[in-house]
This record gives sequence, structure tokens and C-alpha cells, in this order.
Amino acid sequence: MSFKYMERIPTVGEILESLPMPAGLAVIKAKRDEAIARVFTGESDKFIVIIGPCSAHDESAVCDYIERLARVQEKVADKLILIPRIYTNKPRTTGEGYKGMAHQPDPNRKPDVAEGIRAIRRMHIRSLQATHMPAADEMLYPDNYSYLEDLLSYVAVGARSVENQQHRLVCSGLAVPVGMKNPTSGDIEVMLNSIRASQISHTFSYNGWVVETKGNPLAHSVLRGSVDKYGVNHPNYHFEDIARLSHEYLKRGLLNPAVIVDANHCNSGKMHREQPRIVTEVLDNRHHSGLIRKLVKGVMVESFIEEGAQSAGENVYGKSITDPCLGWEDSEALLYAIAENC
Ligand code: PEP
Ligand code: MN
Repeated sequence: MSFKYMERIPTVGEILESLPMPAGLAVIKAKRDEAIARVFTGESDKFIVIIGPCSAHDESAVCDYIERLARVQEKVADKLILIPRIYTNKPRTTGEGYKGMAHQPDPNRKPDVAEGIRAIRRMHIRSLQATHMPAADEMLYPDNYSYLEDLLSYVAVGARSVENQQHRLVCSGLAVPVGMKNPTSGDIEVMLNSIRASQISHTFSYNGWVVETKGNPLAHSVLRGSVDKYGVNHPNYHFEDIARLSHEYLKRGLLNPAVIVDANHCNSGKMHREQPRIVTEVLDNRHHSGLIRKLVKGVMVESFIEEGAQSAGENVYGKSITDPCLGWEDSEALLYAIAENC
């Protein structure tokens, strides 16, 4: 047998008992969830901005950043809903390198998955308590969702996971919007199939139980650009891409057609400074076309306090570098510009 069983992972009940949701926060989250859901169902015309670092691995810096966001949120509350990105699981293209706080709570030490689960819950609670802004996280390991279920207001399924059946089935049980990213190949069909799978009911095995889900009507698309067989990036945030997607949505009869445009990754070719231009183009297209205005509900931006790539965790492959982020001043200016022009 090649598995070495090292440590029993605490159950969801044990984790929630040791790190409970502080009093009063559930009501705040429920209100926020409702406001966000109304955007995806078309009842509210607020614009969503999912914004934050590529990887959240430094609790204090993450909370400092989200407190800044909260001050902006207050001023733009009539136009924007800001959802902080607290991404605690990082997919790695070759499996090598830093895999996020959930895996390695201290980026410079060996993985400690049991402590990682506690660490990510602690960070999400601290941020929510300080800012009253429930966050987005990526679903990389579907079983881990239960450890954060009461805290998250948005979940993204990444480009490398969107074709996976277990992700789709688990997402069919979420009561919050789940953004299905297009795969790295750019195949829109895969993304739409994932949305379809998440919008319908399923019975399956989850965390040692047979569960039944109702389907998630808030599952939607996230366009992140693609990379071709030569390693060249191709954006998919342009008018033609979104108009085509709108047509595909109509053909399929999916619930609550919606798109979030991810301004970084293959859309920017990881040139983080292009993000404001990309967001501006998306807003222009919303003004130009009623169809696109209806479909594009928001944008995703990689941003942090300091501009550039964050480095985290050293291992045999060297230091891991996450995707480069826009710095705080540019991000703040971008948020006010979005509020002006959305
Ligand atoms: C991310 O959002 O940081 C990310 C890893 O995205 P993608 O799955 O689109 O590569
Ligand atoms: Mn990233």
C-alpha cells in the first residue's frame, strides 16, 4: 500500500465547534447573500466586483486589504457589491509548488492539512468579523466546502476543475452563486455543461454521507481567457465572445444567465496592469448592448496591497509565485471608476 495514513482530519462538527461563527454574523451574511442573489436573478442592477489577491496566505495582510475594501464599499454601496477574494486553495498546473493556506498554513513549512483547515476558517471569520463582507473562495477540494459553508458568499470552480463531476455535483447543493470558469482550453461547452450539471438535483456521496441536492439556480459563467497548444493566451472578454455566449445561453434554457469577466489570468496574459483597461472595455460593451448589460453581472480582479506577484513557500522547485496583482492605489481608483461607469 502506498498511502501512509498520517493523521485523522477533524470532522466538520469538530471544526465548527472549535471555531464557531461569532454571534450576529450569520444575519449579516444572510443579508449579503440575498443582495448578491438578486443581482444574479436580475432583480437588482448592482454590479459585482470580486476582488483580492490571487492567493490569501498571509492572514494579517489579507485582513488589512479587506478593511480597505470595506471603506470603499461604504462609499459605492448604491452601485457596487464588493466580494473579497480570500482564495485559500491554489491549483498548480504541474502539481508542484505552494498549494494554498488550506494545504500549507505556513508557506515556508511542510504541508499541514489539518491545521490548514483551521487556519482558513480562522482567517475567513476574522475578515468577516472586521469587515462584514463575506468572501469568495475557490472550490478546489469539494469536501472542504463544509468547513466554510457558513462563511462564504461566492464560490468559484477553477479552470482546471470545471470538468470534474464531483465539483459539479457538490455545487448543485450550494445556496450561494457558484462561478464556473471556462477551462484553460477555452471550451465554452465544458463551462456550460458544468452550469447545467450544477443547476439540477443529484444524489451522490459527500463527506461520508449519501446526500441529495436541489440544484443551484445561481450557477453561472466566469470568462478567464484561454491558452492554446502553443502556449499563447487568447482573451474571451470581447463583445463577440459575450454575444456568442449569450446566444448559447438562450439555446440551452439555463436558469439565470450570467457572466463574470475575470480580468486577469489568460484574459490579461497575466499582465496585471491590463486589468483596468479590460474592465473598462467590458463596461463599454455593457453600455453598447442591452444583451451584454443583462448578461454581464460583474468582474473579477486580482489585486492586493503591493503591486505584482506574491511569493509564497519554498520547496524543491524553488519559490512559488502566484499571479501578479494590481496594487492598492490602482485598485481603489479602478473601483471608483467602475462605480462611476457601470
Ligand atoms: C485564480 O482565480 O487565481 C485561478 C487559479 O484561476 P483559474 O482557475 O482561472 O486559473
Ligand atoms: Mn490567480
